[in-house]
Amino acid sequence: MTTDLSLDAPGPLVPSPLLVVEDEPVMHERLYTILVGLGYEATALSFAGSMLEARHQLSNQPFAMVLVDIGLPDGNGIELIRELHWQDAALPIIVISAWSSDQVILEALQAGAIGYLLKERDDIEISLSIRSSLRGGAPIDPFVAKRILAMMNTIASPPGASLSAKGPALTTREIEILGMVAKGLTNKEISNVLCLSRFTVECHIKNTYKKLAVGSRTEAVFEARIHGLLP
Ligand code: CA
Repeated sequence: MTTDLSLDAPGPLVPSPLLVVEDEPVMHERLYTILVGLGYEATALSFAGSMLEARHQLSNQPFAMVLVDIGLPDGNGIELIRELHWQDAALPIIVISAWSSDQVILEALQAGAIGYLLKERDDIEISLSIRSSLRGGAPIDPFVAKRILAMMNTIASPPGASLSAKGPALTTREIEILGMVAKGLTNKEISNVLCLSRFTVECHIKNTYKKLAVGSRTEAVFEARIHGLLP
């Protein structure tokens, strides 16, 4: 890993002073190096190891930007984000955390964080992300962004079509028909067995495709098996 982080630093344009709320000394060192590389004066950087310490520092002086870890020894960083955002909605707050659950990511962003970075990234990646926020961006780690998009798709899908944790919501009839598809029956054969019109069978199969987000009988059977809907 390279230690040269001087990415044509924005110099005096960096929002100063900056507070880092983080309890791991190793992360203090990493972030210090990264931030100095971005053009921060050492005197413009403050570090707090707990929520208590952070609140104390924030009451002593205003900060232009705050980096917050989620897992802190005396509480959840989301609480602090909420407080800070409530006091000053324009204050840029970025989460720098280990990988978290979807719930934590959503809560942190809803609480007012404008960015969500992962500690596991290397210094260059974290540096580029922080730099983008200095220029008005909202840096979200690509993995986190992917999770957010997946959550949005789940919310945006019509009821019954969402891939919930329990898998796609197929009706009993749809599963029954798909089971016959899996056995190799044609639509005509299925309609005969179930005493349904072919049109009805085709409708059920089309709905199944839509719910499973597939385009063929083989894919439908494959997806249904993955979700445990078929043996
Ligand atoms: Ca921590």
